[in-house]
This record gives sequence, C-alpha cells and structure tokens, in this order.
Amino acid sequence: EGEAGSGETYVIGTDTTFAPFEFRQGGDLVGIDIDLMEAIAEDQGFEVEWRSLGFNAALQALDSNQVDGVIAGMSITEERQEVYDFSEPYFTGTVTLAVNEGDESEISDWEDLAGKQVVVKTGSISEEVATERQDEIGFEVTALDQTTTLVESVKSGNADALIDDYPVIAYGVQQGSGLVTVGEQVEAGDYGFAVNQGQNPELLEKFNTGLQELRASGEYDEILNEYLGAED
Ligand code: GLN
Repeated sequence: EGEAGSGETYVIGTDTTFAPFEFRQGGDLVGIDIDLMEAIAEDQGFEVEWRSLGFNAALQALDSNQVDGVIAGMSITEERQEVYDFSEPYFTGTVTLAVNEGDESEISDWEDLAGKQVVVKTGSISEEVATERQDEIGFEVTALDQTTTLVESVKSGNADALIDDYPVIAYGVQQGSGLVTVGEQVEAGDYGFAVNQGQNPELLEKFNTGLQELRASGEYDEILNEYLGAED
C-alpha cells in the first residue's frame, strides 16, 4: 500500500446523469460529486479513474469489485450499511414527487397517485418509497435506469409522475425541465461515498479527511455554490 501522496489510482463508479451531482457538460463529466471527489483526491494525493455507469450499474460494479468506490448521490441507509461502508455525509437529500407543469391540480400529493403510472429509478430509494406506498395508494410502478428517462416518460405522458431525489428534480425545474415538484417530501438519508464493507478503509479515510479539509478551507461551499448558486 502506498502512502498518501504516492499517486495511487482509485476507480470510482458514478451515475450517468444525476444533475447537479453528475452530468455531462460539453462532453466532460462534471457535478458536485465529481468536483468533490477530484478536490479530495488532489488534497489527499491520489488519482481518480471515473466510471460513469448509471446508479444501479455502479452498485453492481462495486459488488463485483470492478470499482473501488461509488459516489452517486447515494443515500446512506441502514440496509446499505450492511453491505457498504459509507463516508461522513456530504449532502442532505429527500425524495419527492414530480409531475408535468399544469398537472399539479390533478396530482398534488401522494394520495392522488391512485390509479396512476409512476416511474422511479432502479435500485434507488425512490423505488423503495414507491414499493412501500403503491399497494396502499394503488398505483403502477415502472423502474427505469436513468433519471433522464424518468423525466422523458413524464413529459411524453407515458407516466403521470416520477419519484426522485428532491435536489435533482429541483435542479431540473430550474433548468427548465417543465416539471413541478408536488406533495410531501420523504426523508431519504444523507448522501455518502461508499466502499465495500471492510474493503478500501484507507480510501474511505482519505475521503473523510479530504472532505474535512474542503469544509475548513471553504472549497466545499465553493463547489456547492457553483452548481446550486450562492445566495449572496
Ligand atoms: N439518493 C438515491 C439513492 O441513493 C438516488 C441516487 C441516484 O439515483 N443516483 O437511492
């Protein structure tokens, strides 16, 4: 094992399009997760080799040790902690419903999903939330691999609503997705960087130490502000 500063390379899996956490800009992979990890790598003296795989595919790649870790707006949950070791949380997320602008009079909260078609992302908390609520409320759930596909399904009318992470839907709304968020937000746990349980403890430690440094130096805030917009 090399020591910090030895230029070790870690292979990191991420989602494809989960703006503002990871997305493509002029062909480059950018976003809060990407910039945070790159800044931590620089601070801690390691290199990152990115694998932009999709959320579920990134978790599968981690399970089969094809990547060393995953950063993908991934919520820290008790269930996942049985398989993965998570870093300190770096962002707070909730899950929410979104519909086409104009449909919010018809679907204004979860109960209004009765008889509706709902799309969620495969392997995500939104899928879990949908599965928990679908019987009681009575809606159809289709799981898809990409956030972009969820949005397209609702826009084209193939689905009536989508469930996804609030910051991601809100960013899309801001960028003119034509959707609106409706209903009560559901707690989904903070975002953390994950490695396989008991594996790569040194990578996790570097991440935590680097994150602490970025918070102290103000670079953490700078990265968030770049994507979310500073208030002042
Ligand atoms: N935060 C959600 C989860 O962990 C969604 C992550 C994602 O779609 N990239 O399940």
